[in-house]
Amino acid sequence: MSGSNNNSGFATRAIHHGYDPLEHNGALVPPVYQTATFAFPTVEYGAACFAGEEAGHFYSRISNPTLALLEQRMASLEGGEAGLALASGMGAITATLWTLLRPGDEVLVGRTLYGCTFAFLHHGIGEFGVKVRHVDMSDVQAVAAAINDNTRVIYFETPANPNMQMADIAAVATLAHQHGINVVVDNTYCTPYLQRPLEMGADLVVHSATKYLSGHGDITAGLVVGRKALVDRIRLEGLKDMTGAVMSPHDAALLMRGMKTLTLRMERHCSNAQAIAEYLEQQPEVELINYPGLPGFAQYELAKRQMRMPGGMIAFELKGGIAAGRRFMNALQLFSRAVSLGDAESLAQHPASMTHSSYTPEERAQYGISEGLVRLSVGLEDLDDLLADIQQALKACA
Ligand SMILES: *Cc1c(COP(=O)(O)O)cnc(C)c1O
Repeated sequence: MSGSNNNSGFATRAIHHGYDPLEHNGALVPPVYQTATFAFPTVEYGAACFAGEEAGHFYSRISNPTLALLEQRMASLEGGEAGLALASGMGAITATLWTLLRPGDEVLVGRTLYGCTFAFLHHGIGEFGVKVRHVDMSDVQAVAAAINDNTRVIYFETPANPNMQMADIAAVATLAHQHGINVVVDNTYCTPYLQRPLEMGADLVVHSATKYLSGHGDITAGLVVGRKALVDRIRLEGLKDMTGAVMSPHDAALLMRGMKTLTLRMERHCSNAQAIAEYLEQQPEVELINYPGLPGFAQYELAKRQMRMPGGMIAFELKGGIAAGRRFMNALQLFSRAVSLGDAESLAQHPASMTHSSYTPEERAQYGISEGLVRLSVGLEDLDDLLADIQQALKACA
């Protein structure tokens, strides 16, 4: 009575996939295997597990039944063969790139990236002989020109954190595969409900499941999904030996609880954000706004083609620049001044001094993160209350 299969709808799989209560004493909610190690019936069986000849679990840094259920469910939602659960988004990103890249290799990355990803590339793996090159991922010709014999990985976010720049996943993947290059997409902003990069040709998807997938701001978590052969390598190299960044079973249970309402939450995040973006666009104080659901957005057509809905994140700038942006954020009463995103609570933050302070001011200018940019993560509150808060904060900063 597992209730769901790969032909079931997205919401059904987000709730049921991979789990049959009748195989677990009728427990409706999957049990949490809160254990570090697993007993072997015989020495020979244990040896076979270590040799990869038996599929059994033997140590929770490598695999655990609670994580295995989450991984299988997430693979189904992203349309991939296999998944891997990690302690954070950065755990997922670093385990993936440590596995795929070696000294002498080159990685092509988007112009704009989450701040800690940028820091890992430039001050982490970039100092171990891997060459990092930024390229405008929205320009496939520029990507083609940047590829050389050493290029092993193309990595990007779409829409990018924080300025919402988008890349055409199918076009980049087609090009990359002509050169045998793996394409890795950070799908944190969209979740598989809004965008499924693997179905457009990407090789791997990475997530900060801390954000929308969990949805409640109470855990840090990361996920990787893709072809089984690649995911197995990341498990046995990047996770097991290089980062050790495994997710805790308890966090996996909280994440699966959050994912049961993913579709409902994303619908509400998107409808609230669409209305707020349309309101902000009309206000004389607003200099520019980047939201994929506005017809004036530079990549509106690509967004319509590639995303089910435009998402819950908005980037905008006030005419008064950084000073007005600070006054606006300090005046907010319902939106919290906080980093992270995808929570029920609406959040506002200033990328240049917060999430993207790992860039130097020169790097921010070079990679398109302006100093005055304000980033909103629109939550699940009543729209009228959110609009009233923005209205009074705009008045306060005039
Ligand atoms: C937050 C975030 C990350 C990092 O995830 P953590 O769970 O905080 O480690 C990576 N990519 C994007 C786009 C993010 O927003």
